[in-house]
Amino acid sequence: MRKNIAAGNWKMNLSYSDAKALATDLSKVDVPAGTDVILGVPHPYLAQINEIVGTANSVSVAAQNCHEKEKGAYTGEVSTGMLDSIGVKTVILGHSERREYQKESDALLSEKVKVALAAGFRVIFCCGETLTTREAAAHFDYVGGQIKNSLFDLKNEDWKNIVIAYEPIWAIGTGVTASPEQAQEMHAHIRKLISDGFGTEIAEATSILYGGSVKPANAKELFAKKDIDGGLVGGASLKAADFEQIIKSFQLARK
Ligand code: PEP
Repeated sequence: MRKNIAAGNWKMNLSYSDAKALATDLSKVDVPAGTDVILGVPHPYLAQINEIVGTANSVSVAAQNCHEKEKGAYTGEVSTGMLDSIGVKTVILGHSERREYQKESDALLSEKVKVALAAGFRVIFCCGETLTTREAAAHFDYVGGQIKNSLFDLKNEDWKNIVIAYEPIWAIGTGVTASPEQAQEMHAHIRKLISDGFGTEIAEATSILYGGSVKPANAKELFAKKDIDGGLVGGASLKAADFEQIIKSFQLARK
């Protein structure tokens, strides 16, 4: 029903030649059945990396951002049309680093999501709370609010192209991972929220990824949880051997 997904987020890392070498290695990985591997590649490398991964083994590329307008006088920005024209059909939106450094709001993300869906993209929508929010026991409401504010005016049919990535900010790049129980608890909350808003069928078909210091050593335990359908992986996606181990950490086949 829903897919297992191992998504890498290369962020603003890797030289062009290192990126090509990593993609070449990953294009040879024997990806488990029912699993999608998605590489979040910096914009300048997308076309070439897309060619390297090809279509052979369920590995594809994603952009790390797109603009909310289709085209126009927006210097330095990249549109869904441009991405589409080089064969990119997935975009990561709402990463906490963009929310923080580019001040991307729920309202702006709502616009970006709609533009991307209208162009036929799959959207990996990121959400997640700060440590202060968790310590105040406000994390369920906070993450629920992010999802409601940006995704709850979508139509039912839009959800087939939505993947959620729950990424607690305190776990991103810190080496501190949410425990499998903490992650499962939030994923179940998110699935219930989607079910309440759009029905059980859509909720059950939506892949919900966990992100935040996923590594070969913890991926198996995280991915074994019922509502954790994979990971959005930063640091550990930059090394082919580590990411390959993460890709092979799925034990639950989802149909
Ligand atoms: C991320 O950037 O989305 C992320 C989860 O990073 P890391 O795996 O390095 O914590």
